[in-house]
Amino acid sequence: MMHADTRQAVVGLCLRLSERGYFAGTGGNLMLRIDPTLVAVTPSATDYLVMQPEDVCLLRLADLSLVDGARPPSVETGLHARVMRARPDVGCTIHTHQPLASACALIGEPLVVPPALQTMLGTEVPVVGYAPSGTSWLAGKLARAVRPQRQAWLLRNHGVICCGRDSTAALAAVEQLERLACDHLAARLADRGRREPGMMARLAPVSALLAGANDGA
Ligand SMILES: [Zn+2]
Repeated sequence: MMHADTRQAVVGLCLRLSERGYFAGTGGNLMLRIDPTLVAVTPSATDYLVMQPEDVCLLRLADLSLVDGARPPSVETGLHARVMRARPDVGCTIHTHQPLASACALIGEPLVVPPALQTMLGTEVPVVGYAPSGTSWLAGKLARAVRPQRQAWLLRNHGVICCGRDSTAALAAVEQLERLACDHLAARLADRGRREPGMMARLAPVSALLAGANDGA
């Protein structure tokens, strides 16, 4: 099997993302760079708990032609490729529907990154305007938001995409983004409670849920 180690790494990474609740069922996908011309990407609509290394697709980055793989590549392959082509420093991209950051993508507010998290997340997490999943329209919108210092993007009404120089860095970005989203939502609720004291009792259970989510992360 071609590039067995990389394919095994993709399988392992998907399992970790599933265990931690970032990939749910077949939702979420990722790309790993093998060399400047070749990438490995998760297959389309596959349960990550039963995925095998031979299911992982090897593609040419330039035109996304299939080099090897038993299944068709993820429908979001174009999203990952736009980041990889524009950013040769990136070795891994991860797209998820992780709950709290996806809630921020629904609200549509960019996230300000505190200095302590900027190494992993970049200086800001922008919102990429809505376009349907799997379309070149969405990939084009993301491409226009790629900058050298950005490592995470909120995809409006959809989810997120994070990147890093390798899979460890990309996974750390996914985790830190979820914590940052949790803090953003908690601050938003606290602000609403201050402005509308009558809402406090109704907001309290959600605040408690968010506090618990951040402890567990
Ligand atoms: Zn998606």
